[in-house]
Amino acid sequence: MFHRRREVTSLSIDKDKCIGCEACVSACRRRVLDMSYRVDCYAWVKYPLDCVGCGRCVRACDTGAVELVTNLKR
Ligand code: SF4
Ligand code: SF4
Repeated sequence: MFHRRREVTSLSIDKDKCIGCEACVSACRRRVLDMSYRVDCYAWVKYPLDCVGCGRCVRACDTGAVELVTNLKR
């Protein structure tokens, strides 16, 4: 099956929208995301360079907290 490659322009998580459900962390097969439990419970982007822009984390998040921007590679 042919997959178009994507270049990740930006990946971030809006802490104000995050409810700490961990769904995005579980959805990411590359372990890009992690949880912080310091003051509030929220997800953060731990290894941004490992992100392949698949969008699984975006689809897993019910609150729209994950913000992913990609470009198609030529
Ligand atoms: S876009 Fe894919 S690789 Fe990147 S953080 Fe989300 S699930 Fe992980
Ligand atoms: S799926 Fe959304 S609400 Fe849940 S931890 Fe990830 S960013 Fe936060």
